[in-house]
Amino acid sequence: MPHLETSASPFEAALERIRSQTKKPVYETWFRNLELLSVDDEVIRIGTPNQFVKDWIEGSDLLHTLALSMRESYGKELTPELVLTAQPEESEEQGALPPPSAPKPAAPPLLEKDSSIQLKADYVFGGFIVGPNNRLAHAASLAVAENPGQAYNPLFIHSAVGLGKTHLLQGVCHTVLKRPGNQSTKILYLSCEDFVNRFIEAVKDGELEQFRYKYRNVDVLVIDDIHFLADKERIQEEFFHTFNTLYNAQKQIILSADCAPSEIPTLEDRLVSRFKWGLVARIDLPEFETRAAIIKQKGEAKGYRLDDDVVNFMASHINSNIRELEGAINRLVGTAHLMNCAIDLQFAQQSLADIIGGDSARVTMKDICDVVVDRLKVKLSDMQSKKRTKRVTFPRQLCMFLARELTDLTLSDIGGHFGGRDHTTVIYAIERIQERVSKDPEVSHLVDDLKREARALSSQGR
Ligand code: ADP
Ligand code: MG
Repeated sequence: MPHLETSASPFEAALERIRSQTKKPVYETWFRNLELLSVDDEVIRIGTPNQFVKDWIEGSDLLHTLALSMRESYGKELTPELVLTAQPEESEEQGALPPPSAPKPAAPPLLEKDSSIQLKADYVFGGFIVGPNNRLAHAASLAVAENPGQAYNPLFIHSAVGLGKTHLLQGVCHTVLKRPGNQSTKILYLSCEDFVNRFIEAVKDGELEQFRYKYRNVDVLVIDDIHFLADKERIQEEFFHTFNTLYNAQKQIILSADCAPSEIPTLEDRLVSRFKWGLVARIDLPEFETRAAIIKQKGEAKGYRLDDDVVNFMASHINSNIRELEGAINRLVGTAHLMNCAIDLQFAQQSLADIIGGDSARVTMKDICDVVVDRLKVKLSDMQSKKRTKRVTFPRQLCMFLARELTDLTLSDIGGHFGGRDHTTVIYAIERIQERVSKDPEVSHLVDDLKREARALSSQGR
């Protein structure tokens, strides 16, 4: 009898081959839910219910893996084409990855509550707006919440402050706790600072054994702001053992930090490397559209449906982090409530004047063009011409994208700077860049750099 079951279709056999050759979490996350739609001489159409899975496979080596295995099964060269079979369910967990496997026996829910941080009720996935800047971190958090210990271990999320790390970490906790099959799951959420303080107390009180037992006997350990371990040798040592015990028992570890593992000062190499074993996901500054969506949503949560011009005004002026956006919304809504008036653009401009600050350096189109020309070695005249070669199109699209992010210019103003292109061209350009930012860390870095440089340039000019 052949080693693959004869009853399996060539497609199943191909998946089975991938399963036997890849790590379990990889297979479970990306391949398990694929289905055969059709196959002809050249193309094999494969369905997935999940946009993220589709994008990810298409943008990575996994597509190649799929093609190789299909070729072996079908005995001919086939190009895999991934097709979205159904939109993700309209639940609060938009874009959820495939559902978890066997449910666990039911038992009372258990969240260790003695930490000083409790979960915030509104830090759930449903209230989290997904954009290119946080898509990976969000999807990975969902995957981990669905399959603790199976999907990515550890999951390491990092970003500057106020960009949603704590929200996502707590979102995982809420989801794990809510799922009926997970009721016996022991989950512990705490800040790294608490972890350090508990450790110090335990040492002082001679209760190290209890400390160890507690943190090494959970199914999911979530530690927020792990960069707090910097410069603390002894606790790093302790955490190293906690990590190993949990990891070896396939328990889920989720960490957040304000920088990448290797950038945490004086973090032992062995911890740095362990933090990278699973998935490291960075959250970037949100793009204009994501900021706008967040403003709308937060406004609605407070009972105000904000006009588009108010939303656009806020989104184009406040682009540092989401906590600031929230501050601005609270201010706006609070003032409107106090004065009992409607929120229109003029009102927004007045009540946010000091937050937005008239003197804050305004990035101009010239600043943007200067940094792009400098970095990408293109000619401004080419970007403004009708030329459509790749070497010119990409920088031109970048300029349009940056102008939308950093300036107040309207879409047609922006198009006007580049040979009188119309607003649909500008929208298309912005979408192309967003897509590349979300798929390609290189592009994402480049965009961050250019933003920084354009801002720096604009403030020098004043
Ligand atoms: P961090 O831990 O990275 O400093 P937080 O998770 O505390 O940031 O987020 C700051 C605030 O912004 C929180 O109130 C959070 O709910 C909100 N927030 C962050 N990202 C999003 C998002 N993508 N959608 C909605 N709200 C967000
Ligand atoms: Mg935080």
